[in-house]
Amino acid sequence: MFYKESSSIIDRHGHWRFAVEAVDRRLARAYRPDKLGFVEAASLASPAGLDESTVATLLAEYGDLLDAYDSVRCCDTEQDPKSGRCIENDCDLALAPVGSEHRHRILRAPVRIPLDPAAASSCNVMISYRHSTGQSVATEIYHHLNSQGKRPFLDDPALVAGTPWEPVFLGAASRADNLLAIITSDYWDSPYCRLEIAHSARSGRRIIPVSCGGRLDPPEFPWLVTLTSVRERLDGTGTTESFLLDLDVQLEAPVVVDNRWEGCAYLLKNSSNQRLRELTSSLGFLAGINQRQNHDEIVASIAAAVYSEPNRLQQLIASLAPR
Ligand SMILES: [Zn+2]
Repeated sequence: MFYKESSSIIDRHGHWRFAVEAVDRRLARAYRPDKLGFVEAASLASPAGLDESTVATLLAEYGDLLDAYDSVRCCDTEQDPKSGRCIENDCDLALAPVGSEHRHRILRAPVRIPLDPAAASSCNVMISYRHSTGQSVATEIYHHLNSQGKRPFLDDPALVAGTPWEPVFLGAASRADNLLAIITSDYWDSPYCRLEIAHSARSGRRIIPVSCGGRLDPPEFPWLVTLTSVRERLDGTGTTESFLLDLDVQLEAPVVVDNRWEGCAYLLKNSSNQRLRELTSSLGFLAGINQRQNHDEIVASIAAAVYSEPNRLQQLIASLAPR
């Protein structure tokens, strides 16, 4: 949850779980550092699935996180008297009459998720995303999965610089049963995100693409389009709540696809010549490959050698593990 109050409310009122999660997300979205960000019971009723007066009762449970007030009306706009001046014409709001909205200012920032390398080694769902475009969606999904008792792992942009990237993040992508890829418009621009997809596929894990404005059929991973993606869009055509219900169902479904070779093929294609040489000398069945071939030819020779015997794929998969 974004707010510890939300967890305690669920402890006290278990039947409100769904509503509290929805309210918790909207408090986090509405928060502003100047503490003038606000929510209203009326606009929370629909996402929370409760009537307005029940939402008001629920909001009262948040205690001093929220600061209730009535809007004032100036220049045809409902406004916060604490902001001092009218946003339309800079009038003095102290002179404005009471308006029609009953609001709640949010007085504290939502929690940040600490990077926990220990969580990387035991996570059940790795969330792969771009910090530039996917962070708020990724964080909301993280909190949801966490409250469902799943073990999600999310990296933190502030701490990535000091973290050994390959063992922690590619290790998590390889080990986690599920890789959730938040495919925003610039997702495929990141070589890191592409490697996370490749290692998850190499390890035979379930990849769930989440459609958030990016391509679901990137040229590097044409097979991705055959996977079941979360159809509910997070771009306003669906709600976050219906999206998360759909996601919960998919995480329970059996894994039916196998893209282990495709994951390996991407990693081979993007390996340095030096790395390919190491690989051919460490795997006995690749020893006969002519090192004077060019990069593409060596990769094709590896593919031919791997495909000639069934147990060789497993050896290649192990050799390509992140180090
Ligand atoms: Zn005004």
